Amino acid sequence: MGTDKTVKRRIPLSFEIFPPKADAPLSDILVKLGDFAKLSPEYISVTYGTDGSNAPRTLEITEIVRRDYGIRSVAHLTCMNATHGDIADKLLRFKSAGVTDILALRGDRRDGLRLIDFNYAVDLISFINKAGGFSVCAACYPEGHAESGGIKNDVEIMKKKDALGVTHFVSQLFFDNGVFMRLLDLAAAGGIKAPIHAGVMPITNIKQLAGIVKVSGVKIPDRLARQIGKFEGNPQALKQAGMNFALEQISELAAYGVSGVHLYTMNSPDTARYIRDNTSYLFE
Ligand code: FAD
Repeated sequence: MGTDKTVKRRIPLSFEIFPPKADAPLSDILVKLGDFAKLSPEYISVTYGTDGSNAPRTLEITEIVRRDYGIRSVAHLTCMNATHGDIADKLLRFKSAGVTDILALRGDRRDGLRLIDFNYAVDLISFINKAGGFSVCAACYPEGHAESGGIKNDVEIMKKKDALGVTHFVSQLFFDNGVFMRLLDLAAAGGIKAPIHAGVMPITNIKQLAGIVKVSGVKIPDRLARQIGKFEGNPQALKQAGMNFALEQISELAAYGVSGVHLYTMNSPDTARYIRDNTSYLFE
């Protein structure tokens, strides 16, 4: 994992950003890229709408991150609702834009979307491998994926992804380090070689937290719930408590030997900077 401007550090720190909605200007995120780049992340990953509708924005942002800032960019790509031809077309576009790192995902099941030529992320990974010329990483779920039927099944799926040569795993966000450490132990016991990067999201407001719980189903530990309850009427204090919680989480994960931290930035360079500045002893 190296680019010209990548700073050698003890633990790779990467950022996730997302394209603005179709009715918002692309500049909403473009003006922030310079601030993210100044923090010298290992890479910046850009999400992809499950139905592929904002694919052009994912492509454009990943291209700009790489070309204009010299930062490695990773394009998320889902295969829900996609034919082989659709994905082949997307891969060609990514490659001609110089974007050769892909986070290969299935995408969530939603009304109106169906699985056409791909059933699972492993099918997409195999397809990308056959196309050639890409580095592929994949998702994992410390609390288990909603459809997996239990964490041991998740580890079996991770083994398949590992066998397909993924560079690393990026975890779903979590607030209880215990679940992530359990996943690391299960993966090691299962012989998984690819590093597992911890997905950490600093909570900065109540609305955001409610949305996350709804979408991902992650559990909120009592300690975090108590802090949120205490600062509910005080947005500034709540934001500080959320950031401090993330800092503690990262420092404990580092002590446990985590191989990378992926920050869900919610498109906020300020949040990323705060976390980066207060954990520089880990990332420089
Ligand atoms: P899979 O690995 O295919 O798993 C889906 C389910 O099927 C799991 O329950 C798994 O256990 C089961 N399964 C997998 N393979 C098999 C098999 N061979 N046989 C039987 N069962 C199997 N969504 C977006 O739309 N856009 C994004 O940009 C995006 N970014 C994400 C980034 C990260 C880091 C993470 C963790 C998730 C992201 N998601 C994104 C959400 C993701 O698309 C959903 O969680 C989706 O439901 C599962 O995707 P997956 O790639 O993990 O699927």
